[in-house]
Amino acid sequence: MDNEMTLSFLAVSENEALARMAMTSFMTVLDPTIEELSEVKTVISEAVTNAIIHGYEENRTGIVTVYATRVDREVTVTISDQGCGIEDVQQAMEPLYTTKQQMDRSGMGFTIMESFTDQLSVKSERGKGTTVTFKK
Ligand code: ATP
Ligand code: MG
Repeated sequence: MDNEMTLSFLAVSENEALARMAMTSFMTVLDPTIEELSEVKTVISEAVTNAIIHGYEENRTGIVTVYATRVDREVTVTISDQGCGIEDVQQAMEPLYTTKQQMDRSGMGFTIMESFTDQLSVKSERGKGTTVTFKK
C-alpha cells in the first residue's frame, strides 16, 4: 500500500466539504484530471449525504468515517455509518428508488455513484449501519 487515510466526523452537512477536500488532497499525488476529481468528489458527496440524511436521519449525533487507501494509481474508498441500515440493498440501488420522496430526493444517488466508479459495493445491516466501498 502506498498511502492510507481515515477521516471521521459528526454527521452534519457542513462536513461534506471536509470529506471532499480530504479526498482531493489524498489524490493530488496522482495528478488526476478535473473530471476524475469531480467524479470522486461527487461520489463522496452522495455517500456522505446518504449517511447523514438516511443513516442518521439528520439527528446530528452519529459519526461518518471515510477510509481511503492507494496502491499505485488505484484508490479505494470506504464511507461508513453506524446508522439505521438498509433493509434491501438491491432495491435501494435501483434508479429512482427513494424512501424520502417528500424531501424531493430523486433516488439517483447510488446510480450516480455506480456510473462514476470502477467498482461499487454496498453492505448494510438493519440497525447496524451501512458501508459503501468504491474503487477509482
Ligand atoms: P438522491 O441521492 O437522489 O438525493 P436518495 O438518497 O433517496 O436520493 P439514493 O442515494 O440512491 O437515493 O439512496 C436510495 C435509498 O437507499 C435511500 O432513499 C435510502 O432509503 C437508502 N439509503 C441510502 N444510503 C443509506 C444509508 N447510509 N443509510 C440508510 N439508508 C440509506
Ligand atoms: Mg442519496
